[in-house]
Amino acid sequence: MNPQHSTTAGTIPAAYRRGEDEPGDGLDGGTGGGKSRGSVDGNGQRRVLDYAPAPQPLEHPVIDNHTHLDFRDGGVEVSVSQAMDAAEAVGVAGAVQVGCDLESSRFTVQALETEPRLLGAVAIHPNEAPLMARDGTLEAALAEIEQFAAHPRVRCIGETGLDYFRTADDGIERQQYSFRRHIDMAKRLGLALQIHDRDAHDDVVRILREEGAPQRVVFHCFSGDAALARICNEQGWYVSFAGTVTFKNAANLREALAVTDPERMMVETDAPFLTPHPYRGRPNASYMVPYTVQAMARELQVDAGELASRLTANTEEVYGPWTQV
Ligand SMILES: [Zn+2]
Repeated sequence: MNPQHSTTAGTIPAAYRRGEDEPGDGLDGGTGGGKSRGSVDGNGQRRVLDYAPAPQPLEHPVIDNHTHLDFRDGGVEVSVSQAMDAAEAVGVAGAVQVGCDLESSRFTVQALETEPRLLGAVAIHPNEAPLMARDGTLEAALAEIEQFAAHPRVRCIGETGLDYFRTADDGIERQQYSFRRHIDMAKRLGLALQIHDRDAHDDVVRILREEGAPQRVVFHCFSGDAALARICNEQGWYVSFAGTVTFKNAANLREALAVTDPERMMVETDAPFLTPHPYRGRPNASYMVPYTVQAMARELQVDAGELASRLTANTEEVYGPWTQV
């Protein structure tokens, strides 16, 4: 077996290991990737840049419903196929690659051409949209997103939504306008919609109701409480849990998990961000999904393999099957 491709539980997958002589400041981007994450966290502290060891494989395949393969971290160069090989080795059979702007949406379509374990989502992120609207470039960008969305393996418009944490008051109206346009696009194209909701639960729900939600709506990296999870159950919206559900201070997310309709539950990484406990702060990747599934299963007191099976069925209901017929 080629050690370059090996992934063994308890060790860092070979493709994610840093060489001894590499400084690994987290700043070197990868080929084809647009962005890389810095080596300092939001509080100005240096992050641990080593990837986490691979988890025990799940008994049933699961799918990472939201990842950013173009976003490099940890100072290593990992190709799309290496990332999916490491994931598959621990039972993560596929992923939704998510574009957030024109560059990463273009990357997404290219990745879909070469990697059968991926389906795609494309959009202008709610933090980008107000800037583009102000510059007068949003309409042309939305037209281009719609062209990317015509690719048969793009199955979703997202991530779109509202982010009141990072957008100043004067950008909110433009953000809401962009959200409405993405909802409209998903409905016209018959695609799913992935919602980014940060500190904006009430307005996200209100605008979805005003516009009329697409048939399949996913709250990516669910950040609400049990009350919002109940609204999602009532509306038939999907609730996707990220590594945040494992964080010590996230009791509200575990309360939400406990009341979420099992038929509407999904799992994701949002890699390279939101690495599950006990590796919080390190780089994230699709191969770490089993940590989150295991934590969800413990919380729900169900078998992890059965939960994985349920999550995969839900995910394929939203995006269609991963296996090519
Ligand atoms: Zn994301």
